[in-house]
Amino acid sequence: MALNIVVCIKQVPDTAELPKIDPAKAMAGDEGVTRVVNPWDEYALEEALRLKEKHGGKVTVLTMGPERAVEALRKAASMGADDAILLDDPAFAGSDAGATAYILAGAIRKLGVYDLILCGKQSVDGDSGQVAPGIARHLHVPQLTFVAKIRALDPTARNITVERLLEEGREVTLAPLPALLSVVKEINEPRYPAFLLIRKAAKLQPPVWGIKELGLDPARVGRQGSATRWSDLRKPPARATQCEIIQGATAAEKAAKLADRLLAEKVI
Ligand SMILES: Cc1cc2nc3c(=O)[nH]c(=O)nc-3n(C[C@H](O)[C@H](O)[C@H](O)COP(=O)(O)OP(=O)(O)OC[C@H]3O[C@@H](n4cnc5c(N)ncnc54)[C@H](O)[C@@H]3O)c2cc1C
Repeated sequence: MALNIVVCIKQVPDTAELPKIDPAKAMAGDEGVTRVVNPWDEYALEEALRLKEKHGGKVTVLTMGPERAVEALRKAASMGADDAILLDDPAFAGSDAGATAYILAGAIRKLGVYDLILCGKQSVDGDSGQVAPGIARHLHVPQLTFVAKIRALDPTARNITVERLLEEGREVTLAPLPALLSVVKEINEPRYPAFLLIRKAAKLQPPVWGIKELGLDPARVGRQGSATRWSDLRKPPARATQCEIIQGATAAEKAAKLADRLLAEKVI
């Protein structure tokens, strides 16, 4: 039985460029740095593509963001996503994690048929980890968070068994479909974009759904629909670091001295 899989991807600043971000510009919504697909979301997409390859079906990617977020959808299409939709509307600006979940859930509801929703465990910028559980709550589907492995998926019995990563070990959980999964990096190794798909994806002009298309309540999106506000954004103060070179005549002597120092500092 073929699967309809939805993957939520967020366009985020490239973490390699984070030190360059000016907090004042970021507060205004323009970090002025290269943007990429949120790393965890690539793992979610990879898992969706593998499930499609195994069971058949379709992978649809959704992103909520401004026009430039189309690039994230193009990247997903170059990896093999079948359909892509941009959720963009001036009314969505300033949405916090709760409002974002409401908007994404509205789009998934509009898609109609879905067996699985895949998200990353968190974004590297907003970092709340709240969006995926929020989508599950709005759609009244089970949420399986921190998924490190899909053990089994039975489209006929309509259930999925996963391993969830806990602080000390793994938990095996079974849930009925449709279900929402948020994934961790242990789950797979994302593929590189396919050469043949890159050119096709570059021309992708996805449909844009806004508040009207989704039939959402304007009071529940954007700034007015958000319970939280960014009042300030700052870089942490630079830490004063000291560097010490351990001296010794031989490597063994240096290693012994280093081990003594680490023991003395209670690092080991
Ligand atoms: C100018 C500006 C102002 C902001 N002001 C506020 C504010 O006042 N209060 C506040 O709380 N936040 C604010 N934000 C942050 C922003 O709203 C959040 O980043 C967003 O709501 C998603 O939350 P998150 O990044 O913590 O996602 P997480 O919950 O950490 O993401 C988990 C997963 O959810 C999915 N996901 C998350 N976001 C999206 C998306 N947009 N599209 C598709 N999938 C997604 C992805 O699969 C992701 O891996 C602001 C952002 C900007 C740029």
